[in-house]
Amino acid sequence: MTSCTDSNCLFCRIISGDEPSTTVYEDDKVLAFRDKFPAAPVHILIIPREHIATLNDTEPKHAELLGHIMLTASRLAKELDLADDGYRVVMNCNRQGGQTVYHIHLHLLGERPMRWPPG
Ligand code: 5GP
Ligand code: ZN
Repeated sequence: MTSCTDSNCLFCRIISGDEPSTTVYEDDKVLAFRDKFPAAPVHILIIPREHIATLNDTEPKHAELLGHIMLTASRLAKELDLADDGYRVVMNCNRQGGQTVYHIHLHLLGERPMRWPPG
């Protein structure tokens, strides 16, 4: 079930199976997998199968996809029993935002208290 084949992109390689990852959920639009360097006891990345480099590159045609990514986070949080205690979702954009992989991804972080404001 692949649709993104940019071999220069780490997350496209994860989608194509060329790079290993631990899948938590997948469907025809998104893939969710464990972060390799977790910043919390639960740290999942939810990515679209379509290669979109940054949030700046999204357009109105991506509205349903972006909603689906957010709803996937909400559903996974419930399934992983994070919902009642709480959790954080984050999408970093470009250098000042802390983005290091240029294929949009929503971080789902849980099972520890989150500080605000973030560093
Ligand atoms: P960003 O900094 O772009 O918002 O988030 C990129 C995330 O990808 C980081 O949390 C980082 O730990 C994670 N990451 C980097 N390389 C890999 C990898 O090879 N596999 C997985 N599963 N996660 C990775
Ligand atoms: Zn990509």
